[in-house]
Amino acid sequence: MAALALVAACSGSGDGDDDGGAASGTTTTTAASPSQADEPWAQTLRQLVEEGDGRDNESEGSQRAQDLLVDALDPIAEPLPGGDGFRHPFDQGTNLLGIIEGTDNPDEVVVLGAHYDHLGHDCETDDPDDVVCDGASDNASGVATVLEIGRRLAADPPSRSVVLALWDAEEDDRLGSLAAVQSGVIDTDAVVTYLNWDMQGTDLLPSVADSRWRTQTARSTLARLCRSRCTSYGW
Ligand SMILES: [Zn+2]
Repeated sequence: MAALALVAACSGSGDGDDDGGAASGTTTTTAASPSQADEPWAQTLRQLVEEGDGRDNESEGSQRAQDLLVDALDPIAEPLPGGDGFRHPFDQGTNLLGIIEGTDNPDEVVVLGAHYDHLGHDCETDDPDDVVCDGASDNASGVATVLEIGRRLAADPPSRSVVLALWDAEEDDRLGSLAAVQSGVIDTDAVVTYLNWDMQGTDLLPSVADSRWRTQTARSTLARLCRSRCTSYGW
């Protein structure tokens, strides 16, 4: 049975709960090692933060983020049909959607999602002169994760097709993912799994912080990728 779960780990209200990213100094982070800093995922994370305007939907900062994310999607996925290339505009913003076609069961779809929008200037930081919500954790981190998984899946495509979904307007009560479902651009009958990344490195639910999640590890391409990457970083 096909199932699609559109979930988001952060709320749309956003008052004062922004991670703030590098500029606000409100989040304790561990710096990437020199080798990790050169990784594509680290570059994506850095580029989104350095975009500098907080990526609010329909802002100039959002446009800059879209440009760099389209450049990141281009070598690893094909545009999902129904949009303007990778861009899928809707009334309040623009989703970015790419697909890696499956080898054996291309009509079955796994969706890997993360929202790239953030709060723009609508958050509190420690520095009153710093009015930009960088959103390093929320959710440049999730976008970097989805793109990194996409890069590795593109190099060795799995049986099912994989849609890489970078949502806009999540901070406005998930309007981007809602628009994708309502428009039919993503055929929900074909979706067998949806996985969402939001705010990596943040314990939103401390009760499950030490939990481990495993799904069909004997046959899962995703599980093999995760295991190899965790091992390489000593996690
Ligand atoms: Zn979020």
